[in-house]
Amino acid sequence: MVLSALPGAYFIKRTSYQFLWGSSPHRLNIKKLQASAKQGGFSLPNFQWYYWVMNVKQLRAWLSTAPVKPIWSHIETEVNGGISPWRELFDTSHKTIHPIIANAKTLWCKLHRAGRWDFIKSPSATLWGNKRILIGGTSVDWLQWRKAGILNVSDLFDCGTKCFLSFDKIVELYKLKRNQFWRYVQIHSSLSKWLETPLSCPVGSPVEVLLSRSPLGKGITSKIYRLLQDRSADPLPKVKSYWAQDMALDTSSVEWDSCFQNVNTMYKETGSRFIQLKTIHRWHRTPQQLYKWNLASTDECWRCDGQNASILHILWSCSALRDWWENIMEVIFIKIRSPKSLPSLSQSSFFQNLIP
Ligand SMILES: [Zn+2]
Repeated sequence: MVLSALPGAYFIKRTSYQFLWGSSPHRLNIKKLQASAKQGGFSLPNFQWYYWVMNVKQLRAWLSTAPVKPIWSHIETEVNGGISPWRELFDTSHKTIHPIIANAKTLWCKLHRAGRWDFIKSPSATLWGNKRILIGGTSVDWLQWRKAGILNVSDLFDCGTKCFLSFDKIVELYKLKRNQFWRYVQIHSSLSKWLETPLSCPVGSPVEVLLSRSPLGKGITSKIYRLLQDRSADPLPKVKSYWAQDMALDTSSVEWDSCFQNVNTMYKETGSRFIQLKTIHRWHRTPQQLYKWNLASTDECWRCDGQNASILHILWSCSALRDWWENIMEVIFIKIRSPKSLPSLSQSSFFQNLIP
């Protein structure tokens, strides 16, 4: 396994921008290009995410439950002092010197940061030296507990019920001395503060859960990639607010989702789909915009000579378009057997479907 943490600029500048725009300045926000089609984006592959996911999915081999362990996984366990490198991913108490494990840790952190997931809140998190598990304001390292085999957060919870083990059970399982009761109370209190009550074993990040549950790694790349897409911020907040303002309608996220779905399912042909996307993204240049940018001497409509020809005017309210829209409405009304009348813009639910 070769793991190296290549910088993000490499993927954006070398792969995406250069291919799309060559030496010209880029014309579209990379976040809009890379956003999924269901978010109104263009589904341009995010090569950096693919690179992280392809590397991170190899870390399954470090899991104790991995059905097949490649030969290199034993080498990495050996160089890590006989401890599974999987534990290192959750250990923030020190820096790892081994280049492969250190790079794996970096990629693990970057992937989780991109998905805004807390990977430390995990059953695999280390108990000792963990900056989130504080007793008396500092992280602790109890040798007796460590020697007894209590290393991870999951060691203190019941595998089945996910409940915190009783002191008697811990004494029985790990042969701990009974004089450790005060420390048991301290760790219980610290974990309760961190994991919140009622105290139960954390499930781990969605990526950790996927890796643990899919030991063979089938379809795991696309699953993690989709998780990252779902967690990414809305790529069109401004566009949506402009449409809401223009149409005096508060369009819900559900309506926007259905609008994007319509664009992607109603048209098989790329050209028609692109026209819809251009409308959503408001890329049609209007006399109003050209006048504002000092590229036209007037903001009058090209068809009806009306003033302030905004995008809404050129697509809907222009008097020159009235016959055209009325013909379309007639066909729709005949289909749905509704009385014929051209709705006003603010009342029109048709408009949201006709012009997304
Ligand atoms: Zn007009």
